[in-house]
Amino acid sequence: MTDSLLHDSSACDQAAGLLGVDQAREKLLDYIDPITEIEYLPIKDALQRIVATPVHSAIAIPPFANSAMDGYAIRHADLQAEQDTVLELVGDSFAGAPYTGRVRTGECVRIMTGAPLPEDCDTVIMQEQVQRDGRRIRIPGRACAGQNVRLPGEDIEPGTEVLQPGKQLQAADLGVLASIGQAEIGVYRRIRVAFFSTGDELCSVGTPLAFGQIYDSNRYLLQGMLTQPAIDAIDMGVIPDQREAVEQAFTDAARISDVVITSGGVSVGEADYVKDTLEKIGEVNFWKVAMKPGKPMAIGRIGDCYFLGLPGNPVSTMATFYQFALPALKKLTGQTRTQPLIVSARCLQALKKTPGRAEFQRGLLTRNDDGVLEVAAAGAQGSHILTSMSKANCFILLSAESAGVDAGDQVDVQPFYGLF
Ligand code: AMP
Ligand code: MG
Repeated sequence: MTDSLLHDSSACDQAAGLLGVDQAREKLLDYIDPITEIEYLPIKDALQRIVATPVHSAIAIPPFANSAMDGYAIRHADLQAEQDTVLELVGDSFAGAPYTGRVRTGECVRIMTGAPLPEDCDTVIMQEQVQRDGRRIRIPGRACAGQNVRLPGEDIEPGTEVLQPGKQLQAADLGVLASIGQAEIGVYRRIRVAFFSTGDELCSVGTPLAFGQIYDSNRYLLQGMLTQPAIDAIDMGVIPDQREAVEQAFTDAARISDVVITSGGVSVGEADYVKDTLEKIGEVNFWKVAMKPGKPMAIGRIGDCYFLGLPGNPVSTMATFYQFALPALKKLTGQTRTQPLIVSARCLQALKKTPGRAEFQRGLLTRNDDGVLEVAAAGAQGSHILTSMSKANCFILLSAESAGVDAGDQVDVQPFYGLF
């Protein structure tokens, strides 16, 4: 762990004590040490888990020369230069039922896609290009030697490393593992993430609201964002703004998890419980990040358990989750870092902004009839306006320095697709 994270404030003093978004993300990532425990899973259970042990193929893929087409396997040297070639059909090679006999000069074999190429043949002529008359096959014109033949090892040579540690397993990876006959894969164990909401005003769904109360939406946001195969998400409920309750909740959560994520209770005034408690049972640093929505965050540890305190306004909770918590969780799971996709789109409207904090506006990205990417605001941009997050499919990224954009300007956009 890096002490500098918690005690070096000089790096934070960008503008009025605010930390830049990239700087905050790097500091947080530096603080996280990936887990190292490995478990072995049947490949069908390993989707989206993180590869822990390198995988090498013991075999060549394809394992044998085979046909890419339904047609006729021939000896290329048999083809006549100036006239049609007539060959005698001597057998069939089906996928799973190869032709094992010899093929002499002037002979050919009917062959199906994926069937082994007979030893004496080197070329396949598509069935559409021949005329068949009983066992006589007429091939008009020439053909390239080796045409329509898939060679052994064309995809994977024996000994090749096909998967590297840190890769998140996609459907294609499971197929690659199966293709080399590997039934199991070593992946990092799931990380346990306990999460709870804090606030006396919060009421859980299923209970009528008293005056002054609101429903706790953040726990459901977090549940949604944490529902990933590499994460075991543990819902710890709502914690009232009471010192003992907060301390008990932190202690319980830290005991059973690798990370505790909370929302709310990190803004000035309220922060005291969280701060006092974490300082008593662990360590914590409060960051003010130059971003909107967002800004206050608490980062720390309780024993071996990391602590991420996200701001309470629901859109802030989501924006800080995606910009900070998710990259941190990915690092913790052992995943190699990947940069989220950012595309440039034409902004359909003017967006107001004052320089100072980077903004993550909620946008709707579309592709117009001319194939041009366009983006518009998805609704009101207040950090409590969750419906605009619900309507959005991207963040519109406005840098800290930006003083707003005019309609027609190009803007950077981070699609939600692939981010979640
Ligand atoms: P706080 O950071 O606790 O001061 O919360 C900031 C704002 O977010 C307040 O308006 C809270 O009522 C609201 N808020 C905090 N937690 C939640 C939650 N779990 N669900 C919905 N709103 C919340
Ligand atoms: Mg609160």
